[in-house]
Amino acid sequence: MSQQFQGRAMITSEDTTPASESEIRSASIAAGRALSETVRTTLGPEGMDKMLVDSMGDVVVTNDGITILSKMDIEHPTAQLVREAAETLEDDVGDGTTSAVTVTGELLKRSEELLEQNVHATELARGYREAIEQARTTLDENSVAITDDDTDILADVAATAMGGTSVGGVEDILADLVVRAALSIADAGEIDTEHVNVEKVGGGTVTDSELIEGVVIGKERVNTEMPAQISNARVAVLQTGLEANETSVDAEVSASNPEQLAAFRADEESQLEEMVSHLTDLEVDVVFVRRGIADHAEHRLAREGIMAVRRCKLSDLEKVRRATGADTAGGIDLLTEEDLGFAGMVAQKDIGHDDRIYIEELADTKAVTLVLRGGTDHTVDELERAIENGLGAVRTALDDGKVVPGGGATEVELALELRQYADSVDGRKQLAVKEFAAAMEVIPRTLAENAGANPIDTLVELCTRHDGGEAVVGLDASTGAAADMMDAGVVEPLRVKSQILDSAAESAVMILRIDDVVPATSLSDDGASEMNEESSQ
Ligand code: ADP
Ligand code: MG
Repeated sequence: MSQQFQGRAMITSEDTTPASESEIRSASIAAGRALSETVRTTLGPEGMDKMLVDSMGDVVVTNDGITILSKMDIEHPTAQLVREAAETLEDDVGDGTTSAVTVTGELLKRSEELLEQNVHATELARGYREAIEQARTTLDENSVAITDDDTDILADVAATAMGGTSVGGVEDILADLVVRAALSIADAGEIDTEHVNVEKVGGGTVTDSELIEGVVIGKERVNTEMPAQISNARVAVLQTGLEANETSVDAEVSASNPEQLAAFRADEESQLEEMVSHLTDLEVDVVFVRRGIADHAEHRLAREGIMAVRRCKLSDLEKVRRATGADTAGGIDLLTEEDLGFAGMVAQKDIGHDDRIYIEELADTKAVTLVLRGGTDHTVDELERAIENGLGAVRTALDDGKVVPGGGATEVELALELRQYADSVDGRKQLAVKEFAAAMEVIPRTLAENAGANPIDTLVELCTRHDGGEAVVGLDASTGAAADMMDAGVVEPLRVKSQILDSAAESAVMILRIDDVVPATSLSDDGASEMNEESSQ
């Protein structure tokens, strides 16, 4: 049960046992709108935060739409559909989920009124589709073309996407890091955000955050006698450890038989010797292993001047692999020359009271690490979410090569253009286009509300100025006043905006077309997609 949202928006299946078609639809719409109302208050940089509490008492404080949606205990099937659409949006463009759910809620509200006036759901769907087609043209006409040279605009894009987090005032510093990270891993214009690692370090302040061209592993070398720093390092990664094969000492060793014990010891040592020689033969400088390292091996490695790190997480091994080009060998005996990776510098550094291994000066491989600093775990976690949003937005902006003004400027322009366009649409579809146009205004209105500005005055001013040709005027949430959004640095990727419209219209139409909620036995993936197909026909 979504206890944490009691008193606000109860979105549970108990709310839905209605009989008639219209009651079912009303309940569906109500659930979608309730979800929308819940996340709406977090829209924009001045939006409020939500405290999410799970049944174990774990707490997350966030302003990030997708985090709220994905962690929220949602039971009503309609609300789940809205969440799924938002998750798809997040996967596609990395941002815009709060906006999409907010617009969905507004479209649902307006659609319900149209349905009451006997406009059929099919006509609504067609009208919305036409509106979106027209909106694409308007978006394109109002966009600004950018390239990877436009680092200032890209930093604005990152800062805008990161604005809606509960960690305020640090966007500029982070935006700069995000843009540098994105550009340094860009490969022929493609940005694979997987190559941007985030290392969270408690303690220090956000301004201590830095970008490392390489990867950082939250471990230390196993023995302080080992070198702490190695340049031009040949790197090995092992799926196993550097321990004697257990089966050879499997035989019951009785303490009353010291000769036998000594023999086992000798056998064990010779195995470990062999392992270390294998590494020295291959001229390995640094070895990362998944399991443990026996004492004897540890000392031998130290004497050979090899840096060794044990009990690495699989994700760490993966990072090393990607950064250095090493192949993970199943075991030491399987390790060959071809498996070795390379790094210009491997060094253990003390940061935030903990030692970490930095792997830098990489050859062809592209990997960067944002070392995030900040007071508490909650802060650093929220920073990480912000970074992800920023990276996603920069990637999308570079992918598209087009950005549009934020702060509601684009939505006000869309509303204006779509209203004009509506006059050319015939039939009842015209009503749908008009309502779609009006629904756009929920964004500037909500931004104003959340920023403590008067929503009506704001909207009136924005509409008037857009009417007068000022297409980039929006609400600057930091001042609460209308301003040129490109100057204010409130900029978003064009594709985020167009996908928000697609996603919102799709969810709204899907919900409107539901005329029954039928209890079913476990729906397989296939079953679920069949249902979706039917409902979107
Ligand atoms: P979403 O999940 O939809 O990305 P956000 O909480 O990130 O939601 O808010 C995004 C909205 O906030 C966009 O419409 C964007 O233009 C707007 N926005 C971001 N920064 C500012 C700002 N400084 N002033 C006004 N609006 C802003
Ligand atoms: Mg955002």
